[in-house]
Amino acid sequence: MQQFDKLINYEVISPLIREGFERLPHALLFAGPSGVGKRDLAENLALALLCEAITTKNHACGQCAACRWMATGTHPDFRRITLDEAVSDESVTEASAGEAAVEKTADKTKKSKSRNIGIDQIRALEDFVFVGSHRSARRVILISEAELMTIAAANSLLKILEEPPASVYFILITNNQKNLLPTLRSRARVILFPHPDHPTATQWLSQAGLDDKAARYLARAGGAPMRVLQWKKNDQLAAIDALVDSLASSITDPLVLASRWEALLKSKNDKPFLMEDLVEGIQCWLFDLALAQATGEVHYHVGWPQPSHVKSPDPHLLLKAWRDINTFRRNARHPLNPLLFLESLAIHYLRALKPAA
Ligand SMILES: [Zn+2]
Repeated sequence: MQQFDKLINYEVISPLIREGFERLPHALLFAGPSGVGKRDLAENLALALLCEAITTKNHACGQCAACRWMATGTHPDFRRITLDEAVSDESVTEASAGEAAVEKTADKTKKSKSRNIGIDQIRALEDFVFVGSHRSARRVILISEAELMTIAAANSLLKILEEPPASVYFILITNNQKNLLPTLRSRARVILFPHPDHPTATQWLSQAGLDDKAARYLARAGGAPMRVLQWKKNDQLAAIDALVDSLASSITDPLVLASRWEALLKSKNDKPFLMEDLVEGIQCWLFDLALAQATGEVHYHVGWPQPSHVKSPDPHLLLKAWRDINTFRRNARHPLNPLLFLESLAIHYLRALKPAA
């Protein structure tokens, strides 16, 4: 576990923590764009709240029973509510239809991931919140993607927040606080997480092992350092490099381009580079081509190879391709035929590079 105060954007919550936890609000809402460190700080705050041998700087000790349980995900006074645990209504019906137990187990793998955090997940917290704690006095509930709670779930949470026991802390995380119920927002102390400034984030990433490549990956991630760190952890940096190489190359045959992209998607690591990552990368590239045409600057590819072979592309064509590729992005999760999908993508991309007539 990293030192709490070495995390990116720590200064956003440090005023709350410096004083100790006695005056910490019982419901916190961490809001801001993705990739700026909300989750890391929330996890570390939860850890510090539960640690049984907190340091003088309010860091978790990393060694007590509570810290060890948190490390293995088994602390009895900690609950995590995420979309991953949510099961879509459809599959609940399937599972309760009374099939043989064996069939149910087989069925589990088919269950679709829900798009929402459901009321059952929140109701399941009631016992946890209103029955006493197992260890220290405190209990912590971390809710990720809080904006994806259904209205019923959010209302159920509101009820709990009306009279929370003194020792219970809720940390809600959202990338899109506008989609949260306003009543819920008003019940929580909203902590806004900005994009950290460029020099700070670059330095932070350099120290996290990105070295002299920190600045360019940060640009490619739209200024979100945690996103870069995720790419590094997932071993996806090489795929990102290779995608930019392919886009900056002078390949004009869509089949050749598509087969290069196909190779990127076939890496064998645990967190492969996905079709949607690829489509997003192409969109960022097209965005920059259009921006460069209009202003002479780029946003996502500062410090990356530039496409020397593209001579004065037509801005209208670029924008049209950018929009067309938006529809590809929607279908990128489950293309019927991945290679055909890539070829069509390559055709759209190459068409955008034609010089203005
Ligand atoms: Zn500890």
